[in-house]
Amino acid sequence: MIAYRFKDALYLNITNRCTNDCTFCLRRHREGIAGQRLWLEAEPEAGAVLAEIGDPAPYREVVFCGFGEPLLRLDVVKEVAAALRRTYPGLRLRVDTNGLANLVYGRNIVPELVGLIDAVSISLNAPTAGEYERLCRPSLPGAFEAVLDFTREAVRAVPEVTLTAVALPGLDLEACRRLAESLGARFRVRPFIRDEEGV
Ligand code: SF4
Repeated sequence: MIAYRFKDALYLNITNRCTNDCTFCLRRHREGIAGQRLWLEAEPEAGAVLAEIGDPAPYREVVFCGFGEPLLRLDVVKEVAAALRRTYPGLRLRVDTNGLANLVYGRNIVPELVGLIDAVSISLNAPTAGEYERLCRPSLPGAFEAVLDFTREAVRAVPEVTLTAVALPGLDLEACRRLAESLGARFRVRPFIRDEEGV
């Protein structure tokens, strides 16, 4: 499933890859979420994504996500977003990301999203580097600081930036909130979806 509705948004599942291996990630045990099976047979190119979207007018927003990290497919995000911008200039476009793209690409990619993306939701999930390592198990060194740096860049350039944390038992959500707000981002708690609520 590449494009699926969840509440009033259309979500685009463009990859199953991720550089993290979060302890709470549904990809570890499940087929998908919200009744959708999200393991892809192949990563879709931009044309296939646009064909799946069809007319996005009924949706409040279109969200680049994945059962994985969408900015690992930066070129597809940019191509699809640009095409949607041309045809539906008022459509709200959001990226849900782990905030590690700059670390992956070795450059600041945020300026490449300017004018294309209205909102970025970045997974924080921990108030300290140690807790991030424990919960998100990044394959790349320096990941927590990279998430914070990516957030700073995004706050400077993207209209709406939200850091999120999953409501995991024992996680200090208020410390996450303080960290998010200190970076100039909004903060949102995401529900902890237990395995049995996946597909
Ligand atoms: S960053 Fe998201 S997709 Fe990647 S392992 Fe963590 S929860 Fe899963």
